[in-house]
Amino acid sequence: MDKNEVLKKYFGYDTFREGQENIIDTLLEGRDAFGIMPTGAGKSLCYQVPALMMSGITIVVSPLISLMKDQVGTLNQAGIHAAYLNSSLTVGQYRKALKFAVAGRYKIIYVAPERLLTDDFLNFALQADLAMVTVDEAHCVSQWGQDFRPSYLKIADFIRLLPKRPVVAAFTATATREVREDVVAALDLQEPMMLTTGFDRKNLFYKVSTPKDKFAEVMAYLTEHPTESGIIYCLARKTVEEVCQKLLANGIAATRYHAGLSDAERRRNQDDFLYDTASVMVATNAFGMGIDKSNVRFVIHFNMPKNIESYYQEAGRAGRDGDEANCILLYAPQDVRLNQFLIDQETENDAFTDEEREIIKERDRERLKQMTYYCTTNECLRDFVLRYFGEYTTNYCGKCSNCLTEFVDIDVTKTARAIVECVKNCGQRFGMTVITDTLRGSQSAKLKQNGMARSSSFGKLSDVPVYRIRQVMQFLCSSGYVFVTDDQYPVVKLTKKAADIFGQTPVVMKAAKEQEAKIKKPGKDSQKKQAVLQDTDYGLFEELRKLRLEIAKEQQVPPYIVFSDKSLRDMSARKPTTETEFLQINGVGENKCKKYGEKFLAAVRQWDARQKKSL
Ligand code: ADP
Ligand code: ZN
Repeated sequence: MDKNEVLKKYFGYDTFREGQENIIDTLLEGRDAFGIMPTGAGKSLCYQVPALMMSGITIVVSPLISLMKDQVGTLNQAGIHAAYLNSSLTVGQYRKALKFAVAGRYKIIYVAPERLLTDDFLNFALQADLAMVTVDEAHCVSQWGQDFRPSYLKIADFIRLLPKRPVVAAFTATATREVREDVVAALDLQEPMMLTTGFDRKNLFYKVSTPKDKFAEVMAYLTEHPTESGIIYCLARKTVEEVCQKLLANGIAATRYHAGLSDAERRRNQDDFLYDTASVMVATNAFGMGIDKSNVRFVIHFNMPKNIESYYQEAGRAGRDGDEANCILLYAPQDVRLNQFLIDQETENDAFTDEEREIIKERDRERLKQMTYYCTTNECLRDFVLRYFGEYTTNYCGKCSNCLTEFVDIDVTKTARAIVECVKNCGQRFGMTVITDTLRGSQSAKLKQNGMARSSSFGKLSDVPVYRIRQVMQFLCSSGYVFVTDDQYPVVKLTKKAADIFGQTPVVMKAAKEQEAKIKKPGKDSQKKQAVLQDTDYGLFEELRKLRLEIAKEQQVPPYIVFSDKSLRDMSARKPTTETEFLQINGVGENKCKKYGEKFLAAVRQWDARQKKSL
């Protein structure tokens, strides 16, 4: 069988995606390969297809139990013998799986890195015919990456112990140069073919908004997209609890995930989300790595995350099936302070000396700054992120909130001057809040205490709304007139350039044309795409979804492992009547056709008959 036949037979796809063939061919030639591809690009197939074509066994090193379980579930559904070896198995189960492995039962074996050098596993590996070792999430081997796992350093030792060196494949979605170099060195890759695909995810819509009431914005979105499944990320556990509580009180099927919950509850909640029992997952960043739920239609960030790498990875969990999806970031200036606090608190990793830790913190602060720029820029959001990853594109994507917002130039000279004067008047001693309150003339005890209530700036901008004062302050910051210190209590200070504010040229800032700020709704595109379905076909889609859920419950796998939303949509539009037609559906391979073909064909037939009767 050649690679195209394998792709069709087992996975039900007709064509490879960008980069996949290149990596597959390289590995089949026996050369190491290193794939740097964004989340959702299809890294798994890059090693699964050659694994099926090679004569020996493929070992896949993977950091997370949930990821392994998911991948093995998907492979088993496709009729491929695969297993995982990790701490979620009982001793008995582990022994049994290893026995089957020795007997040559599995073509692909997922293993946690800390198992590699154990006696049991080594015993097996030294006798077995290992064709390939694949390292998933390879950036975990980099001490400079954010997910460093010391156990990943054992992988190279493990490979060196093998009597015959298998071909080695590595994959990551982290694109920075340091991490890339670290991976090649620490895994001891031999002249690897390096492949970087474009980082753009064309089906994702990006939006940043700065709402007064974040929760109200979330509710508005959910009301408009009632059947969609999605993730809401929060920075703190407490926020997760609050948001989840409020959603439940508002009748939304939400669940939660963070490190403060018991293992059992985390597993249960995760399953509820994966099995579509709960449509919305509210979580900290502890949730998601390795979760391959393909029909996540939106990712909302309730707080700004700590850097663009994290943001892109988390937002990238939307729309893995290639259908349209929305990535929305709800920004508030407090998010910056919260992140600064988290960076300062970070003491977790014992692998570093104090000095190294300081360097890392410094870099984290720089990354946070970039993230803040993303939230406040007026330029194309997609372009901003791609540039951050070293990719140059046009400055207009037409598919982010900035590209779709009309901006107007407004003269903010008066406001800007008042702000700079106020900073001067207070001796550059206070933060944004005190300055804003002073200019607004707020009657707070604090202002009386610190003397600002008697300042000549007091009430100077009582006719300018708070958000506008903040906006102008941000603008003065990003254009270098003022800056905010990195201290525990950040203070606004003037730069040399601040004096220019009082010159001849007016201060002009770009702002969203307010009456037209009703951005073209995200999600419109998805409706367009789905319009391929006739209105009436939605009924069939819902029927097929129900059937999928029944089967998933029976088999105890998540619904998207039976068929993706995309496959169901394709079925609803094409209404296959024969097995041959069924095999044409996106994502239907031979095994799934054999297993489920009859049931789904029957469902289509029944639905069709009912339609005809009702005409
Ligand atoms: P990654 O690991 O890069 O984040 P995955 O390997 O999980 O991405 O793949 C993401 C989704 O894309 C999966 O649902 C997978 O089945 C699908 N996919 C991968 N390759 C193809 C292809 N050639 N054609 C269609 N779908 C594909
Ligand atoms: Zn854009």
